[in-house]
Amino acid sequence: LVSRKKHPENTIVEVKGERIGDGNQYFVMGPCAVESYEQVAAVAEAVKKQGIKLLRGGAYKPRTSPYDFQGLGVEGLKILKRIADEFDLAVISEIVTPADIEIALDYIDVIQIGARNMQNFELLKAAGQVNKPILLKRGLAATIEEFINAAEYIMSQGNGQIILCERGIRTYERATRNTLDISAVPILKKETHLPVFVDVTHSTGRRDLLIPCAKAALAIGADGVMAEVHPDPAVALSDSAQQMDIAQFNEFMEEVRAFQRQF
Ligand code: PEP
Ligand code: MN
Repeated sequence: LVSRKKHPENTIVEVKGERIGDGNQYFVMGPCAVESYEQVAAVAEAVKKQGIKLLRGGAYKPRTSPYDFQGLGVEGLKILKRIADEFDLAVISEIVTPADIEIALDYIDVIQIGARNMQNFELLKAAGQVNKPILLKRGLAATIEEFINAAEYIMSQGNGQIILCERGIRTYERATRNTLDISAVPILKKETHLPVFVDVTHSTGRRDLLIPCAKAALAIGADGVMAEVHPDPAVALSDSAQQMDIAQFNEFMEEVRAFQRQF
């Protein structure tokens, strides 16, 4: 169902008036994790000022260590809902269990399925049974074919509103947190009719690589770029090394938009 051969036209995923996949390039910015209302509001204000509609923030954080911050759970989703209403933004947040998919419908505009859950088939099926856009991330060590099949799981249950997100894969290279597979973008666009985003934060794990990788993503034809922004990354409860602060975010947008105007 996700194959371009069966469905040649691009799928457009509508999120609060934004038409993702329509040829424009979108930005999804926001903190790694929802930590407090004030923290998300500070980012929301900056995002709004930049004319960006999509705000991200994790309420359920699938962390490598069980002793790390696990997220605020449903309290985090409630904060996102309040922010979405107050700032007129669309919010995107990761859901990690099938039972929480239904709950999330009341609070968020896009359900994210994270890299670690790309082959959680029960979660994929549950996401396929709701009428809500899904942002599906590529698994840590998933081939493109496995990634496409994960999207197929969602669509086979009836939900075709899917955005694919390349977020780097694990390789032997340690200079970056993951290896951004930039060629996955045109391959996914060729093989499927779904919009494709690139997450420059989790793929690189390096703040100094966010701008060049965002430029590469936009130049190669990504439908959107995701990156993390925190009012004070030094005290962030997760991904403190790679989130941008508000000033860095404004610089990022300025430089990336200047680049976009060149083509
Ligand atoms: C995230 O976007 O918050 C996240 C945890 O990313 P990933 O699933 O790609 O690691
Ligand atoms: Mn993160």
